[in-house]
Amino acid sequence: MIYLDYAATTPVDPRVLESMQPFFREQFGNPSSIHRYGQAAEGALSTARETVASLLKCQPDEIIFTSCGSESDNLALRGAALARRSETGTEKILLSRVEHPAVVKTAIQLERMFGFKLGWLEVDELGMITPRAVSNAIGDDVALVSVMYANNEIGTINPIHEIGLLCREKGVVFHTDAVQAAAYLPLNVDELSVDLMSLGAHKFYGPKGVGALFVRKNTGLIPSITGGGQEFGLRSGTQNVPYIIGFAHALSLATDERSDRIRYVIPLRDQIIGTVLETINDVRLTGHKQERLPNHASFVFKGVDGNLLLALLDSAGFACSSGSACKTGNPEPSEVMEALKLERDWGLGSLRVTLGMDTQAGQVKQFLDSLPSLVEKARRLKTGKP
Ligand SMILES: *Cc1c(COP(=O)(O)O)cnc(C)c1O
Repeated sequence: MIYLDYAATTPVDPRVLESMQPFFREQFGNPSSIHRYGQAAEGALSTARETVASLLKCQPDEIIFTSCGSESDNLALRGAALARRSETGTEKILLSRVEHPAVVKTAIQLERMFGFKLGWLEVDELGMITPRAVSNAIGDDVALVSVMYANNEIGTINPIHEIGLLCREKGVVFHTDAVQAAAYLPLNVDELSVDLMSLGAHKFYGPKGVGALFVRKNTGLIPSITGGGQEFGLRSGTQNVPYIIGFAHALSLATDERSDRIRYVIPLRDQIIGTVLETINDVRLTGHKQERLPNHASFVFKGVDGNLLLALLDSAGFACSSGSACKTGNPEPSEVMEALKLERDWGLGSLRVTLGMDTQAGQVKQFLDSLPSLVEKARRLKTGKP
C-alpha cells in the first residue's frame, strides 16, 4: 500500500515518539501539583511552550495548548466573537466557504444560536481569498475575520500578511487556520500579522489529539472550557503533557528541516501535476499553480465519481483523498468545489494527492503509471458503458 494522503494526517516521527515516552510513566505528574512530580511536569510543559513560542516568534504566554486543530479553531472563533461583541458591540464575522468545517460550522452556530451575522468572503477561481475581497467586505460592524493560511483540499496559499494588515488598520481581530500550512510555511506571527493562529500536531509528524492556538496579547477571548484555569484561564483541563512535548518537538523539527522537506517534495509534486495533466483527458488542476503547498497536488476529472475513483485507487494499493463529501446515493460536490464554481460533472470528480517525507520517487512513478486506466475505468462505470 502506498500512502499519498499526508494532508489528512502524517505518521508520528520516531524522534517525536521517543521524546514523548518518559512523560507517560516516569514523569507523569500533574503540572498544577505543588510537589516534585508536578514541578517536573510543569518544567517540561514550560519548556515546550517556550520552544513553540520561539518558533512562532511570540511570548510563551501567547501559546494555548488544545486537544486538536478543530478545538483551536472553535476557541478562536467562538472565543473572539463573544469577547468582541461584549467589548465593542460588533457582531459580524467575515469568512469564506472554503474554510475548514471547524471554522465554517462554528461560525454558522454563532449565527444561528448566538445572533452573530456572517459575511461570506469571495473566493477567486483558484480558491484564493484576496486582500481586495476582504477590503470590500470589511466595515465598522466587523468583529472578526477568519482566513485560512493554506487550503487543505486544493493547497492554495492565501496572502495572510496583506489581509492581516488590512484587519489591523480597521482594528478587527484576525484569525488564521494554519493547521494545513504549518508543515511547510513560515509561522512568524508578526510577519503574518495575525492575532489568532490555529495549529494541529498530526499534520506535521506529531501525534493526533493535540493542537495549539496563538493568542496575541490583549486579544479578548472567552474560554469554551472553564474549570481549573489552566492555559492562562483560556482552556481549563489538566494538560496532555506527553502530547504537548510531542507537539513542540514535531514543530521544532518541521522548522529546522523545512527547506530540506520542501526541496524533497516539490519535484515529486511537480512530476505528478505535469504527468497527470499530460496523460489524462478532461482533467484540471484545482487551486493555484504557484501559490500552493509544496506537497499538494489536486485535480478534478470530468465525468468521474470521486469516491468511486478513491475506491479503485485503494484496491490498486494507493491511499489518496477526494474533496467531495461522501454521501452515499446522493453525492454532492464539496463546499470548496462549489466555491470554485465548477460545473457539477467536474466538481464530483476531485482527487487530492499529498506527499511527505516517506514518499519515494518509485511510489510516485507507480501511482502515475496506474492512474490513467483507473480514471478511465471510473468513467466507464459512471456512464454504465461496458
Ligand atoms: C486537519 C485540519 C483541521 C483540523 O485539525 P484536527 O487536529 O484534525 O482537529 C483544521 N483545519 C485545517 C485546514 C486542517 O487541515
